[in-house]
Amino acid sequence: MSIASRLDEIRSTLPTDGSVTLVAVSKFHPAEAIAGAYAAGQRDFGESRAQELVVKAPALPADIRWHFIGHLQTNKVRQVVAHASMIQSVDSLRLLQAINAESVRIGRTVDILLEAHVAAEQTKTGFSPDELMSLLTDDLIASLPGVCFRGIMGMASLTDDIERIRSDFEALRDIFLKLRCGVMETHPEFNVLSMGMSDDYLTAIESGSTMVRIGTDIFGPREY
Ligand SMILES: *Cc1c(COP(=O)(O)O)cnc(C)c1O
Repeated sequence: MSIASRLDEIRSTLPTDGSVTLVAVSKFHPAEAIAGAYAAGQRDFGESRAQELVVKAPALPADIRWHFIGHLQTNKVRQVVAHASMIQSVDSLRLLQAINAESVRIGRTVDILLEAHVAAEQTKTGFSPDELMSLLTDDLIASLPGVCFRGIMGMASLTDDIERIRSDFEALRDIFLKLRCGVMETHPEFNVLSMGMSDDYLTAIESGSTMVRIGTDIFGPREY
């Protein structure tokens, strides 16, 4: 099946009111595959490695919105801030401060999502819901003018147990809503709940996702 028809198939399963944004996760796939999806109307793409993003972004159309979704080391922040319209995988205060410093330096603001950790695996990165509640304060927001807090990103546990997956997504939605109705109440741009991948995105949408990140279902398996 072509990338265009896979995209069509996925779009047909998304809510028709446009409430869910599709990010095509193109990591490990060549620029030609991205160009194919672009020709089919796709504009949001996800990459997980800085060295890949810096090669692909200049080689592809400028109206692509690049989402950075991988673990980001502070020494790669400069490369990523130069190209990303949204950094979804912000998992430490140190990283947040590094992104802010670089954004301020180049005179822009970068949209970010705070990565929330609710899954069973200890290996997954991100803040616990309690950590997010104490991290995100008016003082922090005021101290980071180069950063626009847009919402939360998270993943479900690696399991076939659909009820476990659903409860992880509901936990992500709960922390998102708590923040949105609390400290972020006066920030209407805090409206992104990024959750759901190829195997679980329909469950994520049922649980309130506003952004799904789909790689394999669009581009096929990755060759690492
Ligand atoms: C790779 C990746 C995806 C896409 O996963 P698929 O199963 O290929 O759809 C989504 N989110 C993150 C954070 C990823 O690293």
